[in-house]
Amino acid sequence: EKLAEAQKAGKPTFSFEFFPPKTAQGVQNLYDRMDRMHDLGPSFIDVTWGAGGRLSHLTSEMVKVAQSAYGLETCMHLTCTDMEKSKIDGALKEAYSAGCTNILALRGDPPRDNEKWEATAGGFRYAKDLVKYIKDTYGNHFDIGVAGYPEGCDDQDDLDLLIDHLKEKVDAGGTFVVTQMFYDVDIFLDWVKKCRAKGINVPIIPGIMPIHTHAAFMRRANWTKCNIPPAWTKALDPVKNDDAAVREVGKGLVAEMCRKMLDNGIIHLHFYTMNLAQATRMVLEELNLTPATGSPLEKPLPWRQSLGLN
Ligand code: FAD
Repeated sequence: EKLAEAQKAGKPTFSFEFFPPKTAQGVQNLYDRMDRMHDLGPSFIDVTWGAGGRLSHLTSEMVKVAQSAYGLETCMHLTCTDMEKSKIDGALKEAYSAGCTNILALRGDPPRDNEKWEATAGGFRYAKDLVKYIKDTYGNHFDIGVAGYPEGCDDQDDLDLLIDHLKEKVDAGGTFVVTQMFYDVDIFLDWVKKCRAKGINVPIIPGIMPIHTHAAFMRRANWTKCNIPPAWTKALDPVKNDDAAVREVGKGLVAEMCRKMLDNGIIHLHFYTMNLAQATRMVLEELNLTPATGSPLEKPLPWRQSLGLN
C-alpha cells in the first residue's frame, strides 16, 4: 500500500531485507539493528523464508514483532520448498493475524546446496501456483510480490523464457516484482524494458546488495553469476584488503547505480542488508534519502521490551 502511495507522490522509497539469524543472540542483535534501521525510514521490511523452511517459525515471529510491536510494514517471504498445503495455510494465517499485508511468493531454494529442487506431495511446483493460491484464498488482502531475474536464475539461463514465467506469475496475481541482485545497471534497465514490452506492468523493484567487504562482494556476485562491470573491478581491486575503503568506494558505486535507476523511472530501492546496517546506511546517506535529523541510536526500544529482551 505504501508503495502505491509513494508512487503517486513521485518520491523514491526503499525497503530492507533481513533473514532469521541462527542463534538467540543473533536474533537479539538483529532486533537492535532493525530498530536502528527503522529510523532510516524504510517503507517496509522483508523477512526471508529459510531454504526448506529452516527457521520458518522465526520468519513468522519476526514478521509479527516488526509489524505489531514496532509498527513496521512487513513483507513475508514464503516458499513452496517442503511445504505441503497445510503448512502454507498455517504460515499465511499467522501473517494475516500479525497484520502483515505483503507476501513475496517464491518457489524456493532447494533444502541444501547442490540439491535439485523437488515438489513436495500436496504442495506447489511453481511460485505462480502459490501466487494463485494466495489470491484465491485471501483475495486482495495481500500484495503479492514475485521474483525476477535480470541475469538468469539457478536452473534457467534463458532470459526470455524467464520473462515469460515472470509474466505468468504476475498474471496469476503478482502485484510487484523484486529482482535478484545485480551490479550492471544497464543489464537491469534493458531487462525492465523487455519486461514492459512483454506486458509486465506492475512495479519492478531492484534488489540491491550493498558492498560490505571485498570477499563477500565477490562471493555473492559469483554465487548469483551476476556481471561485474570492469569499472567496478578497477575501482575496488586496489583497496580490496582495506574493508573501510571497500565500503567507501562500494558506497559510491552502488549509489551511482541507484541514481541511474531513479533517473530511469525506478521509484523504490530494495536493499539486501545481510542483517548489517552500515553499508546500506552509507548508500542511503550518499543518495540523501535518510532523515536529516534525530539520533536513532538513543531512541528507546519498545519492541525489545515487548519481547522481554531487556
Ligand atoms: P519460479 O518462478 O517458480 O521458477 C522456478 C523455476 O521454474 C525457474 O527455472 C522457472 O523458469 C521455472 N518455471 C516457472 N514457471 C514455469 C512453467 N510454467 N513451465 C516450466 N518451467 C517454469 N529462496 C528462499 O528459499 N527463501 C527466500 O526467502 C528467498 N527470497 C528471494 C527473494 C528474491 C527477491 C529472489 C530473487 C529470490 C529469492 N529466493 C529465496 C530464491 C528463489 O527461491 C530461487 O531463486 C528459486 O530457485 C526460484 O524461485 P522463483 O520464485 O523465482 O520460482
